[in-house]
Amino acid sequence: MKSVVTYTLSKCVKCMKCLKVCPTNAVYIEKERVHINHDKCINCGKCLSACLNQGLQAKGSTLVDIQSYDYTVCLVPSALISDYKTKEQVEELFYAIKLLGFDEVLDITDIEGQVANEAILLSEIEKGKSLISSFCPVINKLIEVKFPMLLSSLTAIDYPSEIAARQVRKNYSNKGKVGIFNCCECIAKLNLAKYPYGNHNFEVDHALAIVDIFPIIKQNMKKGKIPVTLCKEGLQSCNPTMMKLAENHLVADSFDKVSNILELAEFGLLNEFDLLTLFPCFNGCLGGSLLWGNSYLTKNNIHQLCKDKEKPISQLPFEEIYGESTIDNVNDMRSIQEKLAFFSKVNKQLEQLPGYDCGACGFASCRIMAEEIATSKKTLQDCRIRKGEANHYESK
Ligand code: SF4
Ligand code: SF4
Repeated sequence: MKSVVTYTLSKCVKCMKCLKVCPTNAVYIEKERVHINHDKCINCGKCLSACLNQGLQAKGSTLVDIQSYDYTVCLVPSALISDYKTKEQVEELFYAIKLLGFDEVLDITDIEGQVANEAILLSEIEKGKSLISSFCPVINKLIEVKFPMLLSSLTAIDYPSEIAARQVRKNYSNKGKVGIFNCCECIAKLNLAKYPYGNHNFEVDHALAIVDIFPIIKQNMKKGKIPVTLCKEGLQSCNPTMMKLAENHLVADSFDKVSNILELAEFGLLNEFDLLTLFPCFNGCLGGSLLWGNSYLTKNNIHQLCKDKEKPISQLPFEEIYGESTIDNVNDMRSIQEKLAFFSKVNKQLEQLPGYDCGACGFASCRIMAEEIATSKKTLQDCRIRKGEANHYESK
């Protein structure tokens, strides 16, 4: 999966804030401009929040793309529904989305419910294996980039939007060219579609950033309703304090805490848990960066919505909910010995570097520069301070 972060040179003041916050060291400066390493970027969005100059952005598809299809379907996840307190408002929301030009608007709460439930069932079957729920692309990519030894712990259940899109393709094969759009609450989910980032292995065609279409949706509210019945388990699955729990189930939110949990899991210190469900955003998907609501209030909305008549969780067969789109590279399972050998190589290089973390080399810290030297992408000569010292002594 590619990075969704795009860069505008004319807006960048080279303040290096984005370099400093990136948890995977995917950002660097070379030839006077910021670069994103697509292999390392996990689409967490931290650099976007840190940039005060709009030098970095993530954009979704546009509504113009609707015109390329004979029949269009818009998928709506729980996180988006959470901004509304009553069933009537949700029905108005669905009508407002339909007015954007879609032929059909589908809630995917029943599939979200099945995905959450299936992870619990799997953890009961595979007790003692500390499985990790695979519904969040940031967590999956973080594991791939920083904790590859945990790749085999991912449940490999597909993303709800992908499962829903496969059903739409199957059921609507008589409707000509079907376009499937997904409304996204966070930047990472913009990547779970063919466009705009060119991920051709996805069934969802287009990802729409909800923040981009919200002003039009707001204008369209109160113009009509579409009957909607929501699935309680799906609605609750988007928040760590509301979701259904397995017996030995650890649920956590917020990026730093989740990273710490993965570190502990990698060293086998969480084996008492059968299932780990990790949300990089505070308050889970309700805290998605593209949403406008306060996640405490939207949690209350979910409580209210759960009182209504509910749709049961979907009962799709096993083979329809498992997929290969959750992780990119299952082969990168470096052993702990290989990792330790690499750390010792990096530490040796680090001893040669000044340790000022000045950023003059274009990387956020001397440790990252040491990693670049250890993997032969850079040499000690690329450190401006060491190079300056060498030149100084040579000239004496
Ligand atoms: S945060 Fe990064 S992209 Fe934004 S202005 Fe600073 S260096 Fe440029
Ligand atoms: S989105 Fe996250 S991982 Fe990607 S470059 Fe920005 S801070 Fe780094």
